[in-house]
Order: sequence, then C-alpha cells, then structure tokens
Amino acid sequence: MGIVVMKFGGTSVANVERIQNVAAKVVAKRNAGNKVVVVASAMAGVTDKLINMLKELTTDYDLREYDQMVSTGETSNVPLLAQAIKQLGVPAMSFTGTQAGIETDNKYSKARISKIETKRLEAALDSGMVCVVAGFQGYCPESGDVTTLGRGGSDTTAVALAAALHADVCEIYTDVDGVYTADPRNVRHAKKLDVISHEEMLELSSLGAKVLVSRCVELGMNYNVDIMVLSSLEDKPGTLVTSKMGAKMAKMEKIAVSGVTSDKNQAKITLRDLPDRPGVAAEVFSALGGTNINVDMIIQNFGVDGIANISFTVSKTELPAALKTCNALAKTLGSLKIETDEDIAKVSIVGIGMKSHSGVAATMFKSLSDNNINILMISTSEIKISCIIEEKFAELAVRVLHDAFIDHGDNIG
Ligand code: ASP
Ligand code: MG
Repeated sequence: MGIVVMKFGGTSVANVERIQNVAAKVVAKRNAGNKVVVVASAMAGVTDKLINMLKELTTDYDLREYDQMVSTGETSNVPLLAQAIKQLGVPAMSFTGTQAGIETDNKYSKARISKIETKRLEAALDSGMVCVVAGFQGYCPESGDVTTLGRGGSDTTAVALAAALHADVCEIYTDVDGVYTADPRNVRHAKKLDVISHEEMLELSSLGAKVLVSRCVELGMNYNVDIMVLSSLEDKPGTLVTSKMGAKMAKMEKIAVSGVTSDKNQAKITLRDLPDRPGVAAEVFSALGGTNINVDMIIQNFGVDGIANISFTVSKTELPAALKTCNALAKTLGSLKIETDEDIAKVSIVGIGMKSHSGVAATMFKSLSDNNINILMISTSEIKISCIIEEKFAELAVRVLHDAFIDHGDNIG
C-alpha cells in the first residue's frame, strides 16, 4: 500500500463546510487503498489576524512569542479536520508539528526542518489511521519550543513529510487547478501545463509565481518527491512537478520557454560615489549578507576618477533593513550617496529548453523594446532570463513575452 500526502491550504479549509468537503476527498483517497497523511493550513485569514493582534501591541515583538502565537492557527484547525474524517467512519488522528516529529533549527519565524522522526506517524498509518498534521510548524529539540517555517510553510511541511515517509506523491490542493504558462488572470490564453520539471518550477516560484513556495519545490527537487498541484474545488487533472520525465522531458526540450512570470516585490538601491578599490564590493555585500538580506541582481559600472557606482535589487519587504545597512556603510565608506527605486518589477522567462536554443535573449529584449518597455537590469542563468523594468509595465511585459514565446513558441532558435 502506497503513502499519499495530501495538503490543503487556507481557502480549502476556511470553514466547517469546506472542511467536510476536504474530509470526503481524504476518505475517498484512503478507501481507494492508500495510506493517507493530510497536511492542513490555518483557516484562510487566521494567520494574518493573529499577526495583526501582535502588531497592535508592538511591531518589535519577540519572535518566540510570534511562533507560539501563529502556530495556533494550524493547531486549532487540524482537530476539526480529523473529527470530520471520523464522522465519515474512517479512523483519523490530528498531530501538531511536535507530535508528528518535525524537528527544526532554532530560527523562530523562519525555521528550517532538520529531521523528521517518523515512527509515530508510521505506526498510526500502519494501524489504518489517517494522520492529519498541522502544517507550517515544528519544534526545536534544544529549546523545546514551537517554531514556524515562514509564511506559506504548510507546502514545505507536506513535501518534507512526503520525503521522510517515502510517499508516492505529494498532492497540493489549492484554489488554482495547476501550474500555468503565465498568470491566467493576466494572460487570457495561458495554458495549464501537464508536467513541469522541479528545476523550472523552482525558478518560476522564486521569480514570482505564487502557486508553490520555492522552499517546498527545492525540497521536492533534492529528495526527488513528485508534487501534484490540484484544485481543491473541482475534480480535474492538475500539474505534475517531477524530475522523472523521460519522453515528456524530451518534448519539453523542444520548447524554449515553459513559463513567464513577474514579481513586483522588488526594489533597487544604487550606491553612488563608492571608492573604486579592491574590497569595497565585498564590504558592501558582506554587510548586507550579515543582516540576512537577500540581494538579487547586481550591476557595477566601470570606475571613473577613483569612484564607482553599484546598483542592486532586494525585495521591497527587505528594503528598510537594506537601507539601514547602507546608511551604516556610508559612515565607514565616506562620501557615499544612496538612491532607491521601488517602482520596478522583475519579469522572467523560464525553460529547460533554453539550454539548447539560441536567440532566446534577443527575442526577449526585442519583444520588450517593440512595446517601448525599457530594460533597467538583466540577469540570466542556464534556464531563465530576468529583466528589471518599470513596475507599471509588469502585466504588459508578461503578455508580450507570452505571445512571443508560448503562443508562437515552438519555432524559436
Ligand atoms: N498559515 C500559514 C500562512 O498563512 C502557513 C500556510 O498557509 O502555508 O502563511
Ligand atoms: Mg498557503
């Protein structure tokens, strides 16, 4: 008998009626001959509400108390789902992250899973029980405290459990019915993909696609877990995220671009009049790295008259922290000028097929320029090209690139 992990997000378990629908899906899966582990989020909106209450007290809250507080959204939801499954005549039991053996490091609010002690879940599964596990939370064995895995962390819980239990598949039920070539709310003729590689999905998730959090895709890639993205509302085929693609992979390599995405959570910082000497870039970026700020694109121009300029991007959410670090640097580096631009977006194309197609970058740049969209920064990797553009052009850029690559895409290069 194979193990299936089924994960349901906040909107799928937003009230008792929806929880009953989810229970029926779970029971059907189990009665079809599977051992079933369910991972559930808090009811939609609950996590935000809990965080807002803390923020009413102070914005400088203790992260241990934050974790203790926000983990309750999931903790109070899984018993409801377990009870709803029992009402349908199937034995079920709810588990907190701690009870499910999910061990993490001690980084409150963004803990990483270090180990899953699966004995208790395995015994429950062997006895015919459906295990309903609270997503988004674990515990740190050193402190004995509850920790949370970062916003959207229930996906990560689900994939980590699938890996630890050697499940056949991790099914992520959500309010969209799969992974699309672009956001269908913006691109009307976006297509649903039957299958996509972990590698491409990881890029799409980190570049702004909202379907899956990138950490869960990364885990899926590292532990070779097949992830199926499905609608929790309708019964129809979803998108399989996998690395075992065989013939399908060969077909995908004929296509240069599998997806187009944009991310408006971007800000640009320019440091002007930096001294042009060895070690300055190292000083700037180690200061930023030291405060855990993720820097994305970096451009440094040629030094002239002993001074240089560096521009880089961070997420808008990290801009205040990045500025604080840069202001501190200005004190040690002398006459540094700091400029910021928040009205930018990153638009990206992703595809394994790019490895074997030429001319993809040229087509991208031409499509943007034909539409008078100016490119501010560019970065590339083997399977993606990203451009920073003005924020107001983000949706247009995605449509234009979708037209260029996906609607007429099979004949590039
Ligand atoms: N409830 C958490 C959040 O809203 C975790 C999740 O939904 O995945 O971020
Ligand atoms: Mg979610």
